[in-house]
Amino acid sequence: MAQQKYFNNPELWQDPKARPYAFIKDVTKTFNGRIAVNNVSLSIYRGELFSLLGRSGCGKTTLLRMLAGFERPTSGKIFIDGIDMTDTPAYKRPVSMVFQSYALFPHMTVEQNVAFGLIQEGLPKEEIRDRVGTYLELVQMSGYERRKPDQLSGGEMQRVALARSLVKQPKLVLLDEPLAALDKKLRERTQLELVNIQEKIGATFIMVSHDQEEAMTVSSRIGLMNEGRILQVGSPTEIYEYPNSKYVANFIGSVNLFDGIIIEERADHVVVKSTLMEKNLYVSHSASAPVGAQISVAIRPEKIILTSTQPEGEYNWTNGIVKEIVYLGDVSIYHVQLRSGMTVLTTVTNSVRAAERPIQWDDEVFLYWKPETGIVLSI
Ligand code: ATP
Repeated sequence: MAQQKYFNNPELWQDPKARPYAFIKDVTKTFNGRIAVNNVSLSIYRGELFSLLGRSGCGKTTLLRMLAGFERPTSGKIFIDGIDMTDTPAYKRPVSMVFQSYALFPHMTVEQNVAFGLIQEGLPKEEIRDRVGTYLELVQMSGYERRKPDQLSGGEMQRVALARSLVKQPKLVLLDEPLAALDKKLRERTQLELVNIQEKIGATFIMVSHDQEEAMTVSSRIGLMNEGRILQVGSPTEIYEYPNSKYVANFIGSVNLFDGIIIEERADHVVVKSTLMEKNLYVSHSASAPVGAQISVAIRPEKIILTSTQPEGEYNWTNGIVKEIVYLGDVSIYHVQLRSGMTVLTTVTNSVRAAERPIQWDDEVFLYWKPETGIVLSI
């Protein structure tokens, strides 16, 4: 849903003249000599819901905290709306942060929690009441004004925390794993609510997540981090369909990697010889690597077709034995072991009941895929 919006409005980050709303320039952060964020540059545009995604400890929270002003970069600069904010304290930045732990005041009611920042700003009572009402309605918490946080569910607390951040009408909202404490169903629902709220108020959201499905669902773009660096920035589709490295391909979804050597290289295709299967692999796009280069061809499990009859043609098929079938309800993941020992994963939609499926454990099967589905990765 969120992605649709950005596909209709792609000029944001594709326009070379567009000015980023948040601009992180050559930022490094070290703690006691250890690098947490390593020379990161990133441009985030107005109205985006941008996710920083990566494993625990990769530096995403540190980057978010530097945007908020809770940490100072060791080197580099941070601009918000064109203004250098590197030395500006947190409370003077046009930024609001939503924490994983909600950080609601336990002794205050929902209404008092949301009103807190506005009272501190000294706004007139009338305006505070109106704004609190508007933002509680936005997060669908009207009617809960008199409750205390311990009378709310996790999802409700998170919505109040969101209202408390948004009520100050920040231009930039920073969210640190805001949905991590919610159970799966509630998290999925809240993800969509978050996107709706962000669309309604039009602010720029930057969210930290270690959950790739969540980042794929809500984001305009994702910045994938590892060991303090940004490895790739792109829309969820770009990152999934065109990962730029084996690490990214593996982090987002599952992938089969056929290691091999390029034996033919043309403008519109490459042919790869792999010791993992008998037939060669044919990929119908160019690669930025020459003949003789050691590369991997990445193929997503859902792009591989499983069959009990031998495919025709000289490329892109192999055979093996079904060693495992993981039933996930709507789909099953078949683990097929090739003669080389490699296990290939393939996703099969469960259009018939499990007992009726034609291919079972220990069956010999064939796997094939189209030449446009492979991606050549050299790192
Ligand atoms: P998580 O998903 O677990 O929150 P993260 O990707 O957000 O991880 P950071 O919290 O940014 O990672 O931490 C990056 C690295 O910096 C880690 O090795 C962490 O131990 C270290 N680090 C973070 N804050 C501090 C600090 N205040 N003092 C010392 N080291 C720190």
